[in-house]
Amino acid sequence: MKIFTLGPVEMYPETKRIGGQQVPYFRNAEFSEVMLQASSSLKRLSGAAAEDEVIVLTASGTAAMEAVVMNCFDENDRLLVIDGGTFGHRFVRLCEIHGIPHEVLKLSFGETLTREKLEACAEEDLTGMLVNIHESSTGQLYDLPMLSEFCQRKGMLFVVDAISSFLADEYDISRYKIDATILSSQKGLCLAPGLSFVILSRRMLRQRVEGRTSPTMYFDFNDYIVNGKRGQTPFTPAVRVVIELRAILQMFEEKGIGDQIASVRELAEDFRRRLREIGLDYPDYPLSNAVTPVLFDGVKHDAHKIFEILQDRYGYVVNPTGGELAARVFRVAHIGNRTIEDNACLTDAIAEIMKEY
Ligand SMILES: *Cc1c(COP(=O)(O)O)cnc(C)c1O
Repeated sequence: MKIFTLGPVEMYPETKRIGGQQVPYFRNAEFSEVMLQASSSLKRLSGAAAEDEVIVLTASGTAAMEAVVMNCFDENDRLLVIDGGTFGHRFVRLCEIHGIPHEVLKLSFGETLTREKLEACAEEDLTGMLVNIHESSTGQLYDLPMLSEFCQRKGMLFVVDAISSFLADEYDISRYKIDATILSSQKGLCLAPGLSFVILSRRMLRQRVEGRTSPTMYFDFNDYIVNGKRGQTPFTPAVRVVIELRAILQMFEEKGIGDQIASVRELAEDFRRRLREIGLDYPDYPLSNAVTPVLFDGVKHDAHKIFEILQDRYGYVVNPTGGELAARVFRVAHIGNRTIEDNACLTDAIAEIMKEY
């Protein structure tokens, strides 16, 4: 079995090993030290400032998205949500559920987020932006410098879900003045699911978090910040994933963030070249290095059918696409412990199936 999915991804031997070990007790100095080191390392890799805060949640990424919406915004805000697919739409739903006034910049499949489309929303009296910098359902990577400049010019708080982009594409909290960054363990960090992270800027903390009563107990950011100072969390964390986190961060720091992103990019470019060689194509909007959507428009094959055969006959698991795109697109991830050789195996298998059917 080889997995080419976006999360969970193929793990590294260094972190797989940890799965077989006893989970340690965590309310002690030793574990606190692991947490503190992991937080500093995440800050270094994401370009956060020393005074930014890392919140470690035991929950999937969507919970971290919801926690940000609940802790940082209220009915006096007016947010701009970039809704370019499943994950953008999740932010829209969260604003609806929590009664946060919002405007939606909706993109249909294949549509690029351009400066013109963004500027068309500039009339509104906006207080913040919610964006999934890599909209994983379509593979589109939005223009981070453009969005950052827009938010700065309009004095908006800038919230970025970088779950499927962090460690695959360039990202820098200080450089792009990002007020909240949302991360999760099972994508670019290549770990088991279970942990999510929110990195808050000084500005967000001062304006929206400090001294404010959170409408939730489990997701109360102030509680996490107080506990985080001593390397602890208010509730039991996914201890094993924290241990995995220490191992992977050490690996990525030794390798260097630039080299890590370069390896993912190399895999993505190699795969895209091979795809064209077997007569398939990918979208022409800007793509994250993390994933390639494989298009079956204009060829007589059904993406979902090929996804099934890849799994049943070859043991290769790619990401199917839900809803109306199911027959037209599947996605292949380039994050995780994958190699050029794996790309060759996968494209050979796809070519073989297309020849047969
Ligand atoms: C995976 C992902 C999430 C989180 O999904 P969960 O299933 O809740 O972990 C959020 N945003 C993006 C862009 C993602 O790719």
